[in-house]
Amino acid sequence: MELARRIDRIEPSPTLAMSARARALTQQGVDVVDLGVGEPDFDTPEPIKEAAVRALRDGRTKYTASAGIPELREAIAQKLRRENGLPYAREDVLVTVGAKHAVYLALQALCNPGDRVLLPAPYWVSYAEQVRLVDAEPVFLPTREEDGFKLTPETLAAHVAGARALILNSPNNPTGAVYTPQELGALGEVLDREPGCWLLSDEIYEPFVYDGARHASLLALRPELRERAVLIHGFSKTYAMTGWRLGYAAGPRPLVAAMVNLQSHSTSNATSFAQVAAVEALQGSQRPVEEMVRVFQQRRDLLLSGLARLPGLRCTRPAGAFYLFPNVSGVFGRSYRGEVVHGSQDLAERLLDGVATATVPGTAFGTEGYLRLSYAASTERLEEGLHRLNAFWEETE
Ligand code: PLP
Repeated sequence: MELARRIDRIEPSPTLAMSARARALTQQGVDVVDLGVGEPDFDTPEPIKEAAVRALRDGRTKYTASAGIPELREAIAQKLRRENGLPYAREDVLVTVGAKHAVYLALQALCNPGDRVLLPAPYWVSYAEQVRLVDAEPVFLPTREEDGFKLTPETLAAHVAGARALILNSPNNPTGAVYTPQELGALGEVLDREPGCWLLSDEIYEPFVYDGARHASLLALRPELRERAVLIHGFSKTYAMTGWRLGYAAGPRPLVAAMVNLQSHSTSNATSFAQVAAVEALQGSQRPVEEMVRVFQQRRDLLLSGLARLPGLRCTRPAGAFYLFPNVSGVFGRSYRGEVVHGSQDLAERLLDGVATATVPGTAFGTEGYLRLSYAASTERLEEGLHRLNAFWEETE
């Protein structure tokens, strides 16, 4: 069938493809340990669910303003002022159908065909495909394991001339890297020299920082950048609300107006009663979030110490998100059950078929030699996963 050419430019999401494969095996009765997921295993906190039920009962079931309901825009602006020192007003904020769509709207509003958008690699795969969907060109900026997978000012400086935008994601998916204020400041200095380059700062994993690390935002560190910067955030990760499809963006008013206009002609608005519940998420007790973060840190440590026992595998100790990104290239070229392991895609498939453990290959994030392991799974499942990885590693020769 002949479809639009843009369809040929994009690949289906490999992370979702891996989950689908794992789910299919589970449906066949296989006990799969899923270390591939990108969502908290916790349930949405009860008060948020109750607020949604109340909103439904109160008839909050109609279209809303495209930018979102005023009380949620206000609650978001207040959160950004209170927690991040970002002086956004309600008019500077729009509510979107997930942070994913906030990124898409921003790219739609900013990019002309052929514009270059800088993506530090490894990168969240939808960035690259969305850049392609708006007919812009993704430019991958390599990062190094030795630098904790963080973009250096030198690498940025080498590519920034004439670029339309840089997408920065801290805490990071897939590496878990968290940029320090100093590291961000050094990148900000490079951006100062290129006034035509926008910054998309994706801070969706904000609360998930460990070992006393604190989340920092370049938008707060360099106020003058805000006139060409978009903050991307959402409810999926912080409040375990992935299925609710609720995100937001904040930025200069003309850009926000353009994004609202685009939204009004595409999704119209985010779901009405989900928006009402999101006010409760922001203004209610944050204890469930703190508890989730505490548990994630324990799980990260458990997974890190288990992985350290696998010969030839090396893993940096990331300070955030809920992913590890171990270097598994030591297994490449070795054999498992008589067949050579060729790369991370092959390894991920063999792990799923051989020891029923789902992971995501580094190639899904543009970087060969690694696997992404999510610790959004219970302690027992993580222990079982480690046991299976061990068994796999012991059988490779
Ligand atoms: N940004 C990053 C870095 C992510 O990892 C994700 C989800 O996996 C999103 C944005 C999108 O989140 P959502 O659309 O569920 O709000």
